[in-house]
Amino acid sequence: MRAFFATALTTLLLGSLPALAQQAADSVAPEIGTAQTKKQAGTPVRGKKWMVAIANPYAAQAAADVLRSDGSAIDAAVAAQLVLGLVEPQSSGLGGGAFLVYFDAESGKLTTLDGRETAPAAATPRLFQNQAGEPLKFYDAVVGGRSVGTPGTPALLEEMHARWGKQPWDKLFAPAKQLATQGFVVSPRLEALVELDQVRLSVHPKTAAYFLPDGEPLKAGSTLKNPAYAETLARLSKNGAKEGFYGGETAKSVVATVGSFTANPGLLNLSDLANYQTRERKPVCSDYQEVSVCGMGPPSSGALTVGQILGIAGNFDLKELGPENPESWRIVGDASRLAFADRGRYMADSDFVPMPTKGLLKPDYLSARADLLDSEDGMAMTGDAVTPGDPSWDHAAVDYADDVSLELPSTTHFAIVDSQGNAVSMTSTIENAFGSRLMVGGFLLNNELTDFSFKSHDNGVPIANRVEPGKRPRSSMAPTIVMKDGKPVLVIGSPGGSRIIGYVAKTIIAYLDWGMDIQAAISSPHLVNRFGTYDLEENTDAANLAPELEKLGYEVKIRDLNSGLHGIAIENGELIGGADPRREGIVLAE
Ligand code: GLU
Repeated sequence: MRAFFATALTTLLLGSLPALAQQAADSVAPEIGTAQTKKQAGTPVRGKKWMVAIANPYAAQAAADVLRSDGSAIDAAVAAQLVLGLVEPQSSGLGGGAFLVYFDAESGKLTTLDGRETAPAAATPRLFQNQAGEPLKFYDAVVGGRSVGTPGTPALLEEMHARWGKQPWDKLFAPAKQLATQGFVVSPRLEALVELDQVRLSVHPKTAAYFLPDGEPLKAGSTLKNPAYAETLARLSKNGAKEGFYGGETAKSVVATVGSFTANPGLLNLSDLANYQTRERKPVCSDYQEVSVCGMGPPSSGALTVGQILGIAGNFDLKELGPENPESWRIVGDASRLAFADRGRYMADSDFVPMPTKGLLKPDYLSARADLLDSEDGMAMTGDAVTPGDPSWDHAAVDYADDVSLELPSTTHFAIVDSQGNAVSMTSTIENAFGSRLMVGGFLLNNELTDFSFKSHDNGVPIANRVEPGKRPRSSMAPTIVMKDGKPVLVIGSPGGSRIIGYVAKTIIAYLDWGMDIQAAISSPHLVNRFGTYDLEENTDAANLAPELEKLGYEVKIRDLNSGLHGIAIENGELIGGADPRREGIVLAE
């Protein structure tokens, strides 16, 4: 086995990382990034049999142990997720939701499973509005019970294990149970996040007691135990998701906690939990160069928006232009602005609202959108040109107003390939860092419902991503598997709120068009345009492009860009992995 910079792993576990990057002033306490570190500069990890690329060393180790003992990629994913919920509690866990993109080597089939949270049956489109019908302030909505959707992750883990697991369900709980009982070493990243979020973490007694023991934020390097999580895990492993999470003691505590937070109570009840179901969705795939880029369809906007960016930019020769050329970034930036315009208008949970899902990726539609970029003077599109397009509808066309929703980054992504060639690309979240800040049974409850548009209508025209009972909030998560000749060649994804889409699209372009290895593609500077400013990653070469991009007509902002890309490339049977140097993840392989 080759550990990815074994010394870096030890350093992380013992708790000393380089200084944390400053939080950007305009983002309201998202999960912060860590400054680009040297730990993963240069060479990617290589493996012959199996590989994991995961955001935390404990979770990577748990997954690696499963694979080493002949478990499947799905077994490893279950073990990793259960550990992530403990050691990276701000990002994902049993109280949240996730999407799985899975390639099964034996059948050659790609499957996407949707474990997204659902709105309570009692929710109305006015959930995030005050008496006057005005949208609430973001954190007034987030903190407390109102933002909590029915968690999807426990059901998803059970479903994926039932379909493709090899090892017994309860065995996969052992690493998380052991760490919860015996304790784990708090990482510098967790310390920094707790430090930053003290005020909000102190509003709920259980949350405060765990993250701010004796009123003081957790310290990196200290050992933290979580016996309540061990008990929750025991119930889930013994009784299964239906009885052991969505019913029984855990369900009762979740409902009681959500409803009793008097400052901002939620609507979740026992039947919301009992009725939760994972959904299998058709993978959304788009052609790019010689590959097919596949991922999660609605309720995620991830695969559609990544697919649109690639589909529009693919009309130009990015390979020839190269990564240092401002013209490449004009094309990618404007393709992204157009894609985000469509996203804001049309994308939501298609079980509830009609969507032009196929039309959004039709090659003739995308090449007509690409024509808008063919500017004679090489200038970026003017504001007027950036409007949603007119894609063909699967059924009758519907008028929607543009969405107003804010997503701030937290979340985690992992990539796993096992010795049989099965591949897992999974992005998992509780939405904001520390979710709703409500803790129950040793895990945090999500605030995923704030991914809905707070406004339900605009001038009487409904917004596609408005709250509705049972609906799943629109996501940006983009777990992706790139396929070539029916086989995976790249497994990739990232956290980062709606910037996920830009991070994933850039990494695919850097890997496929610019010939970077997967580690270099992940580490390469971010330039992200979501239909507003052009965000350039501070302290990287991207910032040097600012004057050129301004000359092209963009408003530019240099800032921390907090991705957590984890990816595995498969080249001639060899596994090549990369972990994002902006967080504390690692790659392990054999
Ligand atoms: N809640 C976001 C989504 O589902 C993810 C948040 C993040 O990546 O930080 O799209």
